Amino acid sequence: MALTARGIRKSFGQNEVLRGVDLEVRRGEVIALIGPSGSGKTTVLRSLNGLETPDAGTIAVDGGPSITFGAPVPKADRFALRDRSAMVFQHHNLFPHMTVLQNVIEGPTQVQRVPKAKAIAEAEALLARVGLAEKRDAYPFELSGGQQQRVGIVRALALKPMLLLFDEPTSALDPELVGEVLAVIKELAEEGWTMVIVTHELGFARQVADEVLFLDGGVVVEQGPPSRLFTAPREERTRRFLDRIL
Ligand code: ADP
Repeated sequence: MALTARGIRKSFGQNEVLRGVDLEVRRGEVIALIGPSGSGKTTVLRSLNGLETPDAGTIAVDGGPSITFGAPVPKADRFALRDRSAMVFQHHNLFPHMTVLQNVIEGPTQVQRVPKAKAIAEAEALLARVGLAEKRDAYPFELSGGQQQRVGIVRALALKPMLLLFDEPTSALDPELVGEVLAVIKELAEEGWTMVIVTHELGFARQVADEVLFLDGGVVVEQGPPSRLFTAPREERTRRFLDRIL
């Protein structure tokens, strides 16, 4: 198991957003989180890498700490959790004043202390893999939205995380740019990366995910392999959601 989360709870003020979420991620597995807007998908994702601190529950990371929330979390454990994963955001969050290459090597050189020459060589190889070798010296504003998002993915890969987290990676893109980003994610899945993907693209989830979790009202209402969940949902709430979307 790469990561196991149990009983994750989170409130924002009076708003109880997560009401006990369990999630297991095996190595090499792709998990898709689907569900209506506001069901807590992003909050789950952010909890997995420490961007959000749950009120209760545990997260155990393979080869790392087992963290119990509700009590103060030791700083070393927080960092360990954050180090294991890298997040690709809805908006790419690239630094606008840095070139593509500078954006990609920033984390490895500044946070992980990778020697610059090595970080550059690795960044160039990753950029070539997503078809952006010739854009290394371009600035984000010179790229299309799809290219920017591919750089966002490369930036996450450059950190060599155990777990890749995607938060609706295509929802801010024009429809014609969605395909090129999904194609990159699909390749990563085929290469065996461990990933958790929040997505509205149910067709994509069906193609790429090993396991789909349907969240509603801050709980996992149902989970299963896409071949089963999309064709024969067991729960009424899942059925209603899929009927609305598909
Ligand atoms: P989803 O990703 O399924 O759309 P989210 O996890 O983004 O759901 O949000 C679930 C609920 O939590 C929403 O009602 C949202 O307004 C609320 N929420 C999320 N983040 C915050 C925050 N930082 N402060 C207050 N409320 C938040």
